[in-house]
Amino acid sequence: MPNDKFLPYYIPDIGQEEIREVVKVLKSGWLTLGPKTVQFEEECRKYIGAENAIAVNSCTNGLHVALVALGVGPGDEVITTPFTFPATAHVIEHVGARVVFADIKRDSYNIDPDEIAKKITKKTKAIIPVHYSGNAAALDEIYAIAREHDLFVIEDAAHAIGATYKGKKLGSFNSIACFSFYATKNITTGEGGLVTLNDQKLAEKIRMLTLHGISKDAWKRYTASGSWRYEVLYPGFKYNFTDIQAALGLVQLKKIGLFLEKRRWIAKLYNQLLDNMDGIKIPYIPKNDEPIWHLYVIEVEEKSGVSRDEFIDRLHRQGIGTSVHFIPQHMQPYYQKKFNFQPSDFPISYEVFQRVVSLPLYTKMTEDDVSRVAGAIKKVLGK
Ligand SMILES: *Cc1c(COP(=O)(O)O)cnc(C)c1O
Repeated sequence: MPNDKFLPYYIPDIGQEEIREVVKVLKSGWLTLGPKTVQFEEECRKYIGAENAIAVNSCTNGLHVALVALGVGPGDEVITTPFTFPATAHVIEHVGARVVFADIKRDSYNIDPDEIAKKITKKTKAIIPVHYSGNAAALDEIYAIAREHDLFVIEDAAHAIGATYKGKKLGSFNSIACFSFYATKNITTGEGGLVTLNDQKLAEKIRMLTLHGISKDAWKRYTASGSWRYEVLYPGFKYNFTDIQAALGLVQLKKIGLFLEKRRWIAKLYNQLLDNMDGIKIPYIPKNDEPIWHLYVIEVEEKSGVSRDEFIDRLHRQGIGTSVHFIPQHMQPYYQKKFNFQPSDFPISYEVFQRVVSLPLYTKMTEDDVSRVAGAIKKVLGK
């Protein structure tokens, strides 16, 4: 392995076309929410197959505004997974509702419908499943629970643009889904997110809430066809997208097929190189839907004799960047103290957390990069 340059955990794939399109917007005189955003929303909407798509400044704020639009607030409970990024739980706190965690399944690391069922009370208002690594949560079971108890479902689809559930794109179902275009996600606008849903009226409310609770889009107000008059219907938020982001996003979305193909190729290479390596376990592969590989997460098994932390350190010393998805939220000081949690309260999340390592996976990786990571792992395992 001649390359001793550090191989980072992630590098976004931004080409000349993205740069050209962003520069065009910069020169156009219209920087923020405007025609490019409208076009981006429409392209996303068609790609996902949803009836409505609203671009927002982050997936986090998409989740937040969805809860607000649904009227979830103090006195309500919302069930989600502890095995997620903090934002998924934080948005529940932001609306003043109570966070209720339900543990994950051992194979997919997705929220377990049986655990959800155990956590339902009279106060439960919504469920927020996360599609971990872009592998769909058990939506049929989750929707069935939601129907039975009259609950909303908001999907945290931050990892999942382009992913499917039983052949249908995530974000096209009769719930709300929130996607992320953060720098490390499968396509990026630097920061950014998208809310999709099929309910037109609710979509209008969400759109209104993302722009101060004002009844008209700002850009229409300031163009010749608009007028200066507007109405404030709610103390809304400043969560809108910008045309600078949209310019970037339109090009990235055009490339999504190529990006996903490349990710599958890298994952396959990893699978071939790592499958028979004693001491680690390669990632879960769903049976029905082709994975989009937002993450490539291996488990460092007990029998390897190497702890997960040591494994990460030793890879780092060989110039390989990695990450961990996720530190369970019930183990974070804020939630741990608030609810007096023990790590073992969510035993699967706790166990998985102690084992997982996310390996570098991005479209700019070469076959040599993948071999280098596999070689470094082999060395760590003393093979
Ligand atoms: C990245 C991520 C988010 C937050 O997305 P932002 O666009 O950065 O707000 C939420 N949930 C999960 C599971 C994520 O990985």
